[in-house]
Amino acid sequence: MMTQRSTEQWRALDAAHHLHPFSDTKSLNEQGARVITHADGVYLWDSEGNKIIDGMAGLWCVNIGYGRKDLAEVAKNQMEELAYYNTFFKTTHPAVVELSTLLAEVAPEGFEHVFYTNSGSESVDTMIRMVRCYWDIKGQPQKKTLIGRWNGYHGSTIGGASLGGMSYMHEQGDLPIPGIVHVEQPWWYKHGKDMTPEEFGIQAARWVEDKILEVGPDKVAAFVGEPIQGAGGVIIPPSTYWPEIERICRKYDVLLVADEVICGFGRTGEWFGHERFGFTPDIFTTAKGLSSGYLPIGAVFVGPRVAEGLIAGGDFNHGFTYSGHPVAAAVARANVAALRDEGIVAAVKEDIGPYMQKRWREVFSQFEHVDDVRGIGLIQAFTLVKNKATRELFPNWGEIGTLCRDIFFKHNLIMRACGDHIVAAPPLVISKDEIEQLLATAAECLREFEQALKDKGLV
Ligand code: PMP
Repeated sequence: MMTQRSTEQWRALDAAHHLHPFSDTKSLNEQGARVITHADGVYLWDSEGNKIIDGMAGLWCVNIGYGRKDLAEVAKNQMEELAYYNTFFKTTHPAVVELSTLLAEVAPEGFEHVFYTNSGSESVDTMIRMVRCYWDIKGQPQKKTLIGRWNGYHGSTIGGASLGGMSYMHEQGDLPIPGIVHVEQPWWYKHGKDMTPEEFGIQAARWVEDKILEVGPDKVAAFVGEPIQGAGGVIIPPSTYWPEIERICRKYDVLLVADEVICGFGRTGEWFGHERFGFTPDIFTTAKGLSSGYLPIGAVFVGPRVAEGLIAGGDFNHGFTYSGHPVAAAVARANVAALRDEGIVAAVKEDIGPYMQKRWREVFSQFEHVDDVRGIGLIQAFTLVKNKATRELFPNWGEIGTLCRDIFFKHNLIMRACGDHIVAAPPLVISKDEIEQLLATAAECLREFEQALKDKGLV
């Protein structure tokens, strides 16, 4: 058991010794971090006894919900049997073999091979090295450049942060690294002007074509995108976007990579987001929902073209001590089997997902400063806007979003602000009653938020 301390003691020790990710440490320490002590289903409890509804499934990862004792049991058994062995040097183990076999079953046809990592960032970095290695093997070593998108998110490692299009990350540490370029995101609300979403989808895909021609098709290794940009604020591209991207990538012989770290493992109602958008990547990266966050593990799914090249190409000089870690692999296998065998992914497509989408739109469309109410499966968002009629956003992007997010937190509801987009991605096991509770709390918070906008003279 963890040592029992008071909230104040935990906060003080945390402030003294722990540097938090994506945080302003000084101001966090002044406030004190919220201490989460346990969780069950879609609920978290903090050290002060508050019961919090987790509308974000942790960081978009606890697909199966909290507190599954069967997964804990699998971890315990695997730890006792084989806590660790590596998969380098002509060695494997049953846990990783079983997971790989199951993943080939749930993946779309042709994705017979996976390469293991410990996180989404490592999956992305692995993919970067893999596509460059592939083109080397194919005798085209000059094909090195990867195209990402502004406001895309691909992780925090040097490769992942470079490929992502978060300028506030690029500013720290001289990123992007050479060989990575970006195009504008397919965000109709902001960039679509007078175009229909469908027209805009084609236009946004053509930005990728323009970039390929600017760099030179013989130098472009891959285009990489999240099927839905998650951390960028749940930017759902128009239906025309991905098919046109696929056509362009095929035309110029550029590999197409989907970053499925958020969309994968049922979030959109399909196993993988690209299935929902009707395109076939050459490679896709995953993590999060693979183990529902119970243990760190990621996987790069490799389609036939790249797999054949790599398998014929000799050594791939890449890997991690914990690639295919037996305990993480065993837990991931049990998690994926449960997502399938308990019909959890199917329900996101057929039942709970459509229910959420219908009710999400009904509840939020009525607010004066809420627009572009959107979502698929169990990933949804809306944008806080100054004027719905003119699609005018608030100045100081993010300021209003934080104001709103803090009101949710105060009412024990976790939804996230990505700039002024408010997003939700609850555990896939959320019930209709829990959805109603989440929506009712959020609506109450939004009334408070719209009043705060008026009180502060912001509208
Ligand atoms: N890719 C995408 C699409 C992500 O959303 C994330 C994390 N939010 C990552 C990569 C990085 O994953 P990790 O934080 O596990 O390194």
